[in-house]
Amino acid sequence: MALEIRQFPCLQDNYGFLIRDAASGKVACVDTPDAEAILRELEASGWGRLDLILNTHWHPDHAGGNARLKEATGCEIVGPEEVTRIAPLDRKVGDGDTVWLGETRLEVVATPGHTLGHIVYFSPENSVAFVGDTVFAMGCGRLFEGTAEQMWESLNRLAGLADDVRLYCAHEYTAANARFALAVDDAPAVRARAEAVFAARERGEPTVPTTVGQEKATNPFLRARDAHDFAERRAAKDAFKG
Ligand code: ZN
Ligand code: FE
Repeated sequence: MALEIRQFPCLQDNYGFLIRDAASGKVACVDTPDAEAILRELEASGWGRLDLILNTHWHPDHAGGNARLKEATGCEIVGPEEVTRIAPLDRKVGDGDTVWLGETRLEVVATPGHTLGHIVYFSPENSVAFVGDTVFAMGCGRLFEGTAEQMWESLNRLAGLADDVRLYCAHEYTAANARFALAVDDAPAVRARAEAVFAARERGEPTVPTTVGQEKATNPFLRARDAHDFAERRAAKDAFKG
């Protein structure tokens, strides 16, 4: 039931995640931004095996390492069907499905918007969710395939989780997100967090994971009034040169 998590930077600004179910020793990686970096981290972990890949969506910086990791470890690949556009997939999952990593239960939550098939993996017992490119610290994913209404609904599903749920986002975009947040929302909590984010990045520290409570208080997309306001903010962020 207890889940150990190793987070490490990959590519330009992605995070890779290796997770281990303490009871069984089974290991999964969430998304496959860089197969060689993941294999090196696996080696450094001493965990000695890779049982599962859990893909959140089909983009190459999330599924591009599937084939190489399967070849190297024989792991099973689980994800939304859209992954098959670019990479191998063994088991297709969607909203409401459950994935077991040993004794750890992961609930699949559909969060369309960034892509149409995007999913999130949520462990209620561990209060953690792997959210891919749906929500970022002080930000959210771009709308490549879905509508603003879909993304607004997806973000609100995540906001409905308990405040202490830790959100593991797939990118370190937080400093840029904080600059945009300051331009559209001058709430004291937003300013305070932006300062903390700039200082953390100055020290080279990650700002991921975040929490549901923190995002509800300071994320300009979750703090939008409604879907229309959200759509305007998302469009403004796309054009923002901060
Ligand atoms: Zn993406
Ligand atoms: Fe991405």
